[in-house]
Amino acid sequence: MARASLREYLARIGFRRVEGVVSRRFELARIIAETEGCGPALVMSVEGVDQPVAANIIDTREKLHTALGVSSDAEAYSKLSKSSNSPGKLSKSRAPGIEEAPRGLWSLPAALFYEGEAGHYISSSIIIACYEGVCNASIHRLLVLDEDRAAIRIVPRHLWHLYRRARSGGEDLPVTIVIGVHPAVMLAAATSPPLGVFELEVAASLLGGELEVFESPIHGNPVPAGSGALVEARITGETVDEGPYVDAVMTYDRVRKQPVVRVDGVYVDPDEYSYVIMGGGMDHTTLMGFPREASIWEAVRRAVPRVAAVRLTHASGGWLHAVVSIEKQHEGDAKTAIMAAFAAHPSLKHVVVVDSDIDVDDPTQVEWAIATRFQAHKDLVVIPSARGSTLDPSSQDGLTSKMGIDATKPITGGRGFERGRIPGFTGRRSCG
Ligand code: MN
Repeated sequence: MARASLREYLARIGFRRVEGVVSRRFELARIIAETEGCGPALVMSVEGVDQPVAANIIDTREKLHTALGVSSDAEAYSKLSKSSNSPGKLSKSRAPGIEEAPRGLWSLPAALFYEGEAGHYISSSIIIACYEGVCNASIHRLLVLDEDRAAIRIVPRHLWHLYRRARSGGEDLPVTIVIGVHPAVMLAAATSPPLGVFELEVAASLLGGELEVFESPIHGNPVPAGSGALVEARITGETVDEGPYVDAVMTYDRVRKQPVVRVDGVYVDPDEYSYVIMGGGMDHTTLMGFPREASIWEAVRRAVPRVAAVRLTHASGGWLHAVVSIEKQHEGDAKTAIMAAFAAHPSLKHVVVVDSDIDVDDPTQVEWAIATRFQAHKDLVVIPSARGSTLDPSSQDGLTSKMGIDATKPITGGRGFERGRIPGFTGRRSCG
């Protein structure tokens, strides 16, 4: 079977090579920001990195569908939920031609993306940890401190649990940090199956049932064959200031004390590709949002007869705002959809429910629906002081007000609620 690597994926979707050598200081970020969402994936030479660096690999729905081998969002959602419930198999592969990198962490495409950030960040790293028989893979940002130390941001989820277990026994947590994998592996690492379900096995299922892995050279953790780079390291009990960092919602995440990662070895495969994610960029918001979109899709589908589309919007970090389009069968369906969406994704702040003639990816059409199909005195749902997302700087002590907007037309609305149509016009402007 074909090896599921970033190289193989890029060959399949095609890419554009950026000319010259790209600086890590803002230039890399500028190139990603200027091209994301509207073109091919990028492959770049980045200063000090001895392998090609890819970006914008899942910044469009088309690319996301290719990564998962599906042709629609609905198919993608059901594939993702099936994979989480029936993980695939990891098969042993020979160790690849990796070389110990001469410049330690600086051999990886750490970059300064936004002014005011704490330093050079690696934001595309999957942290693989196996401790006391439980393996976990999740995506975490690393702030490079020097060539063999970094600060890691860990939210209190599975990696944090393994780390606390290790530290309570007086040990560091051995981890393998992997950069440059097939996007299906990134998407699997972005999901949250229960503790004990290994995300690489979810990736195996997404990729057809099997994923080739080799044992990392020092800690013996499973690493996907064809990975661009891997770092053998330990998460220590030492902490250091981490942040500011521009997160998915494009605000500066505050400074916190976070654990220091000590490097035992950095290995690069010069024949494979590395990968960069920019905070708040479209690859980032896709990885944040897509697994939650799948949850909202499942929940709303159980609650109302016909769901056409679900989107967690890019502007809200793929996290705080949802647009749900339905084919309304009864008055009140939209309110049911609002409640189901909030229950399915606890961080959700605002949800707009529209009819299926509205494109959930077009904010102008969504605004039009609110302008012409919504009356605040009866179509608005407000839930004050609910548990919200810490990513939202306007929330207080984790509490937020939630709002649902029913922007669907009455079932018996008739012609007066239709949008003017130009025959042959797809609804998409083409002015770049
Ligand atoms: Mn996990």
